[in-house]
Amino acid sequence: MNYPHEAHQAREFAEKAMTRILDEGLPPSPDIYELWYVYYAGISPEVTRALDILVSNRQKITEDRCRDPHTRFLSDARNEEMIRRAGDQVKATIKNVTGAVRDVKNATTSYSGTLEDVSKKMGGAKTVDEMRNLVSGVMNDTQKMLEHNHKLEQELEQSSTLMEELQRDLEQVRKEAMTDGLTGLANRKAFDAALDRVSSDTQSEQGSFTLLMVDIDHFKSFNDNYGHQVGDQVLRLVARTLIEGVKGKDIAARYGGEEFAIILPDTNLTAGVAVGNNLRKAVATKDVINRTTGEKLGRITMSVGVAEYINGENMTDLIERADAALYTAKHNGRNQVAAAPTPMGKRSNGA
Ligand code: GH3
Ligand code: MG
Ligand code: MG
Repeated sequence: MNYPHEAHQAREFAEKAMTRILDEGLPPSPDIYELWYVYYAGISPEVTRALDILVSNRQKITEDRCRDPHTRFLSDARNEEMIRRAGDQVKATIKNVTGAVRDVKNATTSYSGTLEDVSKKMGGAKTVDEMRNLVSGVMNDTQKMLEHNHKLEQELEQSSTLMEELQRDLEQVRKEAMTDGLTGLANRKAFDAALDRVSSDTQSEQGSFTLLMVDIDHFKSFNDNYGHQVGDQVLRLVARTLIEGVKGKDIAARYGGEEFAIILPDTNLTAGVAVGNNLRKAVATKDVINRTTGEKLGRITMSVGVAEYINGENMTDLIERADAALYTAKHNGRNQVAAAPTPMGKRSNGA
C-alpha cells in the first residue's frame, strides 16, 4: 500500500481517523489506526466498501469487526505485494543472467572462429613478425574471452546472493501469513489448513484425533478493568501456556479474539479431556502481573470444549460439537472442561 499524500493532507486524514476511533470507542491500536487512515485517505476501494457497509449496518463498530477488513485488505495485501515484488526481482535476475550467458556464447563462438582462422594462417606464416602478429591477435581475443567469463561469473554470484535473499524473504512472508501477530501461535488460516491435513491423515490411517476449543473466562471484564494492553498480555500468557503444554504433532492456534483451538492428532476423547484439564490448571495457577507497575492483577481461568473426530465427519460439524461442549463448560460454571457426546449410531475411532 502506498501513502502518496502531502504532509498537510496526511495530517487531515490522521485527525479524521483518530476522531473516528475515539467516537466509536475503538482502541487506538496501530491496526485500527491504519484501517481508518486508509479509509479517510480513500486509497483502498476495498477498505472503503467494507467500512461503508459496516457503518450502513448500524451495528456497533467494534475492534472485532474492524479486524477482518484489516487482515484481508491490508496485512494480507502487503504480503501479496511483497511476493509480487520478489517475483519481479526473480524475473529481472533471470533476464540479466540470460543476457550474460548469451554474451559469453557469442564471444566463445567468435573466439573459436579466431582460433581456427589463426591455426590455418600459422601454417602459411613465413616471417617471425607475421607469427608474432598472429600470436598477439590470439592473446587479445583470449583476454577478451577471459573478461567475458569474469563478467558472467560476477553476474552469477550476484544473482545467487539475490536468490538466497529472496528465498529468506519469501520464507519470512510465508511464516508471517500463517502466524498470529499478537501471540505467535498459528493463526486461523494455519489452523484451517492443519485441521484439513490432520483429518485427511486420520481418515487414511483409520485413526482418531481430538479438537479442543478454549475460551478465556470473563475476559471482557478483565479488559474493561485493566485496559486493552493488559488484555493483550493475558492473551500472550495463555498462548505461552498452550505452547508449553502441548507436544510434538499437536497444533495450538489462535482461533479469534480470546478463543484458541488445539488439534491433538492420534488422541481420543479421554486423553483430550486430560490435556484440556492440564492446560486449564496451568493457566489458573499463573499470576497476571501489570508489567508497568508490577502489581498482581489476579488470575485468569479458561473453559474448554473437547470433541473427538467421528469417522467421515466434516470439519464444520466437528468445530460445532467442540463449541457446544465449550458452551456447556461455560454454562456449568466456567474454569472446567466439557466433552462433546458422540452422536448415537456413529463411532469415533479409538475412544
Ligand atoms: P465468557 O466467560 O463468557 O467467555 O466471557 P468473556 O467476557 O470472556 O466473553 P466475551 O465474548 O463477552 O468477551 C470477549 C472479549 O475479548 C471482548 C473483546 O473486547 C476481547 N478481545 C477480543 N480480541 C481481543 C484482543 O485481541 N485483545 C484484547 N485485549 N481483547 C480482545
Ligand atoms: Mg469468546
Ligand atoms: Mg471469553
